[in-house]
Amino acid sequence: MLIIKTNILNPISSDKVEFLPDTFISISDTKIESISKNIENRDFTDYSDSVCIPGLIDTHVHLSQYYVRGRHNSNLFDWLDNCTFPEELKSKDPQYAKKVAKDFFKASVKAGTTTSVIYTSPFKEACDIAFETAEKLGVRAIIGKTMMDTNSPEYLQEDTETSFRESVELFEKWNKKTELLEYVFSPRFAPVCSSQLMKMIGEFAQKNEAYIQTHLSENQDEIELVKKLFPKYKNYTEIYEKLGILGPKTLLGHGIHLDNEELEIIKNTESKIIHCPDSNFFLKSGVFPFEKIKKSGIDFALASDAAGGTSISMFNVMKMTCYRQDDYTVSPEEAFYYATLGGAKVLGKEDIIGSIEVGKDADIVFLKIPEQNKYNCSELLSKLIYVNEEVEIISTLVAGRKVF
Ligand SMILES: [Zn+2]
Repeated sequence: MLIIKTNILNPISSDKVEFLPDTFISISDTKIESISKNIENRDFTDYSDSVCIPGLIDTHVHLSQYYVRGRHNSNLFDWLDNCTFPEELKSKDPQYAKKVAKDFFKASVKAGTTTSVIYTSPFKEACDIAFETAEKLGVRAIIGKTMMDTNSPEYLQEDTETSFRESVELFEKWNKKTELLEYVFSPRFAPVCSSQLMKMIGEFAQKNEAYIQTHLSENQDEIELVKKLFPKYKNYTEIYEKLGILGPKTLLGHGIHLDNEELEIIKNTESKIIHCPDSNFFLKSGVFPFEKIKKSGIDFALASDAAGGTSISMFNVMKMTCYRQDDYTVSPEEAFYYATLGGAKVLGKEDIIGSIEVGKDADIVFLKIPEQNKYNCSELLSKLIYVNEEVEIISTLVAGRKVF
């Protein structure tokens, strides 16, 4: 049993955060057993000069692109051709794949991220290596091999059957192998995936209740290209719907330029939208309609989309969520919610992670905020998000185990 005395900053809803000063958290094995003001046991770890928050959840990140963060490109297609594709090729070398996976996971727990939903490169061994690395470090991760079987550079393009078979093999090997690991089928996006491949993924994933992730409506040139490639569909979202890859476990990256009909499809299929503000800024993709999506009732969450996003830090993502909006003001409470409990909700894991509550897994980040005693709850939260370069993360727990 681990007992820690600390100050808890906890998301309740998208407009409410609670602050519990001088509180004891008892952790038994992987779970939070109690949260109380007093404790009989005098044997506790004293973190009363720190604040703790639930582990941050990054619902869309490209592990194999970790080293090309911040390499400047003016738009999505230049970025893919000049950075993404040549960099992903490097992970064909297992030594390189090992190094990038290790550096990525170490940096992410250091930044307070305890759950990541990950794209790797189109190489099976690189995906295997990412899982092995996550398992060794004890982080919570949902990982997939990126799939692309058409219109792709020759050095990355897969054969349709091979792409599908390798993904199924990875799913069978890794999905729920431990409490912390799951597989996600990862067709990159419609322009580089054949209808046949998407159909096969859809059928398998629905039957096996597997996660699917892809990109949708990020950039105007992308939307034009999709129209040309799939002329018989009404819109981009309908392609995914008709090919069977939408559903409650489907995570759609971006969704910036969706019309009402498309939002209706997403809502009806209970698919989720993943908002990646830093990446949208960096690649000039457009402004995510935050208020409209919130009002639509579609579940959504935040993500770094590194390396389209320049940083894997979810503190940076929270800040960018507000900065990226022109007309709508995202409150610190909202940004915090969509990087924690809201992230857990899109993954269907709100009963396990996303907040510090009795019965949930102990995914907790301890941090120091300069002069924290001066501030009330909302001031602390503001500081955490807007002056995040001064926040020092001192320890990160995943399922009760120290990973940083
Ligand atoms: Zn992405």
